[in-house]
Amino acid sequence: MCGTCCMYLGDYIVIESQEGTYRFSCSCVSTGTDFVAEVDPDKRKFFDDHSFPQQNPSACRFLRPLGEGRIGCTIHADSPAQCKYYRCRVMDIFSEEGEFKGYITGTLALHSEDTALQMIYERVMHEITGSEPQQEEQIQSQLVQAGYLVRYQ
Ligand code: SF4
Repeated sequence: MCGTCCMYLGDYIVIESQEGTYRFSCSCVSTGTDFVAEVDPDKRKFFDDHSFPQQNPSACRFLRPLGEGRIGCTIHADSPAQCKYYRCRVMDIFSEEGEFKGYITGTLALHSEDTALQMIYERVMHEITGSEPQQEEQIQSQLVQAGYLVRYQ
């Protein structure tokens, strides 16, 4: 519900044609897959406000403010697989004292200003092997061994 990733997916989730008032034929440019999406009934009042996509031309055409500071997908039920399974953030990292130190994205990129953590992470990334879940487990384990607290998302 932060909408951060979707803010830059306007060129990747493309509306090819409108099939009904709230029904669209679309394509995922990055995967080359077509899909049909109907705006979720409970989000139509938000979708009807087109000022957001006009003001944010890089955003996905289906992204809208949903009230109370939330920004979200208005085709949640029909959103493509790449959106459903996308994980923008897989781990949050804290010091032993509980101070937030950074986070790791679904592409296993570390976002941190902490130099010590950056150095440890660089080493860890050279050592991990196996499938994606196995790599995440190894990262978590090695960061814990290095004295960090890791909260898995
Ligand atoms: S379809 Fe929904 S989840 Fe996917 S990029 Fe657009 S707003 Fe985000």
